[in-house]
Amino acid sequence: DLSGVSNPICRLRVAVDAPQHSGIGAPLDYLSEQALPPGSLVQVPLGKRELTGIVWDPLPADADAEGQVLPDTALRPIGQALLELPPLTLNWRRLLDFAASYYQRSVGEVALSVLPPQLRELDAKQLQGRLKKLHKWVEAEAKDGAPSAQRPELSPAQAEVLAQLDALLLAERASDATGSAPGPAPVLLHGVTGSGKTEVYLRAAEHALNQGRQVLVLVPEINLTPQLEARFAERFQGHRIVSLHSGLTPAQRLRNWLAAHLGQAELVLGTRLAVFASMPRLGLIVVDEEHDPSYKQQDGARYSARDLAVYRAHLERVPVILGSATPSLESWQHANTGRYRRLALPQRIGGGAMPRLRIYDMNLLPRKQGVTTALAQPLLAALRERLQRGEQSLIFLNRRGYAPVLHCGECGWKSECPHCSAYRVFHKGDRTLRCHHCGFSERVPRACPDCGNQDIAPLGQGTERLEEQLAAALPEARVARIDADSTRLKGALEAQLGAVHAGEVDILVGTQMITKGHDFRRITLVAAVNPDAALFSSDFRAPERLFALLMQAAGRAGRDAEVAARSEMWLQTWHPQHALYQSLLRHDFEAFAKSQLAERESAGLPPYSHLALLRAEARTVEAAQGFLEAAARHAGTLPDAQTVLVYPPVPMSVARVANVERLQMLVESPTRGALQRLLWQWMPELHALKREHKGLLRWAVDVDPLAI
Ligand code: ADP
Ligand code: ZN
Ligand code: ZN
Repeated sequence: DLSGVSNPICRLRVAVDAPQHSGIGAPLDYLSEQALPPGSLVQVPLGKRELTGIVWDPLPADADAEGQVLPDTALRPIGQALLELPPLTLNWRRLLDFAASYYQRSVGEVALSVLPPQLRELDAKQLQGRLKKLHKWVEAEAKDGAPSAQRPELSPAQAEVLAQLDALLLAERASDATGSAPGPAPVLLHGVTGSGKTEVYLRAAEHALNQGRQVLVLVPEINLTPQLEARFAERFQGHRIVSLHSGLTPAQRLRNWLAAHLGQAELVLGTRLAVFASMPRLGLIVVDEEHDPSYKQQDGARYSARDLAVYRAHLERVPVILGSATPSLESWQHANTGRYRRLALPQRIGGGAMPRLRIYDMNLLPRKQGVTTALAQPLLAALRERLQRGEQSLIFLNRRGYAPVLHCGECGWKSECPHCSAYRVFHKGDRTLRCHHCGFSERVPRACPDCGNQDIAPLGQGTERLEEQLAAALPEARVARIDADSTRLKGALEAQLGAVHAGEVDILVGTQMITKGHDFRRITLVAAVNPDAALFSSDFRAPERLFALLMQAAGRAGRDAEVAARSEMWLQTWHPQHALYQSLLRHDFEAFAKSQLAERESAGLPPYSHLALLRAEARTVEAAQGFLEAAARHAGTLPDAQTVLVYPPVPMSVARVANVERLQMLVESPTRGALQRLLWQWMPELHALKREHKGLLRWAVDVDPLAI
């Protein structure tokens, strides 16, 4: 206790939430009468405001001071410190230092933004109140350390995987003792849906819990957390489990975060933001569906939670398991080169097979029918069979609304959005034309706005239309639709999923929302009615995403061994011979990955190169382009310019949204190091250029971008 001791006033570096463009990057110096340990929360003045900051680590004595060192007289004193809260650990601070530096943001901005919002608003007294409440909650839900529930006998493949995991950990612990250990190697667990991956996570978690450690499990979607939480809760009845995701109330989020930080929660389940959970006794990280694009944050610090999980495991020297039926090509390549250990579960549990793939060639349809119906006759017949047997079917189409465009056959008018370079989607339910980019919405016109023709027609298929066509073709079927429109109200999704589980639905129609994770037992048919668009996308990752999506959708069918034999996945395509579909036909991810990696290598794309995107937004194309071109000229003068390629600016795939023009410029390097150095040297100039280019609204750097 240092209070009352009149020690000399000391300097503290404090990370505050100030974005880099305000000119404040590094933590700021303050004066304090108390020597607070790094990781403590304090309130500090900044300008006219008082905000919460985190005491950061002092710079090493030999570090180059960035900018000038201010004399004590120029520094302001800290305010109140939140001493009730144990400091955030060194490893947590190092994770945040890394994340901020790698994704080119200020450490204070990232560190404060990943804390529960309420924590930043509490003063010391309020915090005490919250902690009391937490202790009450912990007491009320006392965990008596009861032994874990019954668990199934491991299958031979699972036993093999766990034995290998054990052997890996033992070997690493042994080399640790000799002081030669690097971090344990990340494990890539490759296995189709239903192959028993989750059981492996549970066993690995049990191992860590038995050693008194905490376990972090990441899932891509909020909707998947309750299901997984229930499974973990059932198994680990004597242990406290909390979830962390953006669907919690601010109070729940603070409570759960505090429970993890204080070590009272032993299992933390969450979406990407949970990778930053404070867990002082962390012993294992699991990243389920590691390939999922949702792990990448799409604004602010554009971090990849999967990649940060791997880094965090390395920092904390704990195992990390990345699980997937269709690993990202980055992870797959790491396994090929030996950086990751690949463990496989090649079969479904209980001998169930993956559904048989039926590729239906749309060219066989009479031309006119192909354009107007979403469903070919043979697929309808297959759906009818399921109906008769009392089995369920799932049909997905990645477009919500009734039709993506409304069109006038007389003059060629189309339902363009006046504010975006995109069409407004026709929603029949509420008779609107709605832009999915800016939200601009109007009632559907009765006649063509340009020529007055009364006969304007919807072009193409959306989920609403598919639902309507199904109801017309199979009037006896109970059809339900799940997409962002049908689940807008709180609780709607849960209710709809509940109805599917209860057998009250025969055919479930929806967007890719329905392909993820949900454990539907009675589904024996899955159909993708229009998956072709992704084959011709300009985004080099589109085929990888499509393959993953289709495999994942296939995984919804035949989960019960009893029905697996008659389970089918249907694909309606105009390109039945496409190599992607042919590998899918054989459920052959390895062949697909091999051919994709060969293409990437010859084109010099990731994982054979490293990318960043510089994005710019302005009212005019010229303003955005001017900024990017000036930025490119400056990049050319930097020391690493020889090894880093800066491509010319191009419009983003939807170039204009809400009257803002959006351009991007690709930056590519064969080495991560050169790319990182260039970005660091570039940043200050980009901030300066922003001030010079008055027309520019926003710019951002995206390191390892997912969508190009
Ligand atoms: P995945 O995570 O790969 O989809 P799961 O771990 O969920 O696979 O396993 C699929 C199903 O098989 C689940 O219902 C699970 O309870 C069951 N299961 C998993 N492992 C075993 C086992 N060793 N013995 C019996 N059932 C198992
Ligand atoms: Zn017209
Ligand atoms: Zn719009």
